[in-house]
Amino acid sequence: MKLKLLFIISIVLFLPGCTQKEIVSVIGDKDSMVAINYPVTDSNILNEAISSYVNKVYNEFKKNQKNYEKPELNISYTYKEVNDNVISVSLSTEMHTDKTVNKIKTFNYDKKNDKFLAMEDIVENLDALDYDIKKALLEKYREADMDFLSNVTYDYFTIDNKNLTLYFNPVELNTKNMENVYLDIPLDSLKLLIDIDKEKDDNVYISIKKKNIDYDKKVVALTFDDGPSKYTSEILDILKKYNACATFFVVGNKVEFYSEQMQRMLKEGSEIGNHSYSHKWLNRLSREEFQNEINKTNDIIKKETGFTPKLFRPTYGGYSDKLKAYTNLKFILWTVDSADWKVKNTEKILNNILPNVKDGSIVLMHDNHSYAVKALDEIIKNLKDQGYQFVTVSELLEIENLRQNE
Ligand code: ZN
Repeated sequence: MKLKLLFIISIVLFLPGCTQKEIVSVIGDKDSMVAINYPVTDSNILNEAISSYVNKVYNEFKKNQKNYEKPELNISYTYKEVNDNVISVSLSTEMHTDKTVNKIKTFNYDKKNDKFLAMEDIVENLDALDYDIKKALLEKYREADMDFLSNVTYDYFTIDNKNLTLYFNPVELNTKNMENVYLDIPLDSLKLLIDIDKEKDDNVYISIKKKNIDYDKKVVALTFDDGPSKYTSEILDILKKYNACATFFVVGNKVEFYSEQMQRMLKEGSEIGNHSYSHKWLNRLSREEFQNEINKTNDIIKKETGFTPKLFRPTYGGYSDKLKAYTNLKFILWTVDSADWKVKNTEKILNNILPNVKDGSIVLMHDNHSYAVKALDEIIKNLKDQGYQFVTVSELLEIENLRQNE
């Protein structure tokens, strides 16, 4: 498994000349807890910088994970097109091996001038704010160490249409804080050297398409985890071809990148569920961190589509009663596992699914590689021929309820 994962990553990282904007997403299972998501932009130079950094971190993880029981690597990102030329990206790494490592890396790239931007290219005289920044840091992170703070530099930052965000590696501040440390500085308080596009903040409101379902006939719910991705459109095309639907348990930090596909899911009768924001192993998180993963994801889905998910699928299928008590979302697992990402073979995927589907089954597939997409047409055609109706997970729960009360 670990070898295979490495292989996937090497291919992804060394694709030459690829300028299609998308998210690269490598997500393992509970035997190999790796979740790496990062953007591919329309600039090759920036892409190379990002992928070589990810590669370096992955190699470091590989070296340190030996003999450690539950190693986990999580790389998540933020992405912002600040104006037509400038892209601002952050990569946040959390690594659990014999020691826990949190670190941050940022890239601010000017496409027009082919140049990575430093703080002095973006903000005039940040030093004037030095005292205020350190004061704010001490207020926000009370355990921060003053000696460390005096040496802090502003090397890691991103910018969006509201804030300049400064990031600090926890070791630099000597905090006990697990997560990366950051501070938002409102743009109003800065003298900027670049133009910022004020983004239009139009909210979209779409509701799930209504369908006629015969409650007495067989039903099945297809589910796709780990998307949205560059494969989502193709999945939606196949669903549409058969007038079928699915439930997409999406990873929050990818949602903005595939806003159109997210809206299409709802318009065409599919449902969106929550699969956390950055695909970390949930059992390791505090209550606050867990709720943050869930709320951030629901917020961004609501912003992009107007829909608020009510269902949650735990990452790596791992959860506890304690976690369940921390949220109102309903935990949804599956009854049929395609193992699509593992078997990577249409015939085997069909074999894992078709003989095992029963009335009321929930089928697990993944929306971050091509394997499930290739099998999907045949899966739907076959199940339709057997008389199955395709429903979302919420519809399935509703039908089970109605049947029980009959
Ligand atoms: Zn997942």
